[in-house]
Amino acid sequence: MASQNILIIEDEEDIRELVRYNLEREKFKVDEAASGEEGLKVAARSKPDLILLDLMLPGKDGMQVCRELKQNDETRDIPVVMMTAKGEESDIIAGLELGAEDYIVKPFSPKVLVARVKAVLRRKTAAPPLSDEDVLSIYDLCIHPGRHEVTVKGKPVSLTASEFGVLHFLARRPGWVFTRYQIVDAVHGEDYPVTERSVDVQIVGVRKKLGSAGEYIETVRGIGYRFKDMD
Ligand code: CA
Repeated sequence: MASQNILIIEDEEDIRELVRYNLEREKFKVDEAASGEEGLKVAARSKPDLILLDLMLPGKDGMQVCRELKQNDETRDIPVVMMTAKGEESDIIAGLELGAEDYIVKPFSPKVLVARVKAVLRRKTAAPPLSDEDVLSIYDLCIHPGRHEVTVKGKPVSLTASEFGVLHFLARRPGWVFTRYQIVDAVHGEDYPVTERSVDVQIVGVRKKLGSAGEYIETVRGIGYRFKDMD
């Protein structure tokens, strides 16, 4: 396989070098941009396989860059991994809702960075998400959308319609972090009053009813929820 190309948009040279060194060691090709404006140009020109985007940039900040990447047909499908400082949960949430695929909190270890990059690339090239009606089998959990049925180790579990919606939405994309708003947005439209706060209530209900399989739904502190990644 040809080596994959990663673009890092970051104004701090030390971090760019650290990232470049560690990714090149893993046979990635790395492009660098020291500002958001430059990053947008390089992204449109070289169509990297993934973009590492610092949120704190002079001039156009990372959030604006992310918005523009996701609004542009040329770059919208390139996965974006945000790099944020600790305590920037609200920025992470905003970035995920703008379409960023994942985030990593500084200071990060090179090992964690490389693992995160590989996981996002793997999800990108994995089979496309199932259609709404496909039966989903994951770990010892089986979800039948057509029948609104869930089984754990073959035993049926009775969920409310909105609990079912939340579980199905998360389980279709293992490893992805979703904010409460994204979950509400995906699950509403079924005539059930799901609000951001009620997502927490639904999750508690789903976990309890799933028993041992409840641990597949992971809380991402300050951000939202994700279904346990398969790796
Ligand atoms: Ca910075």
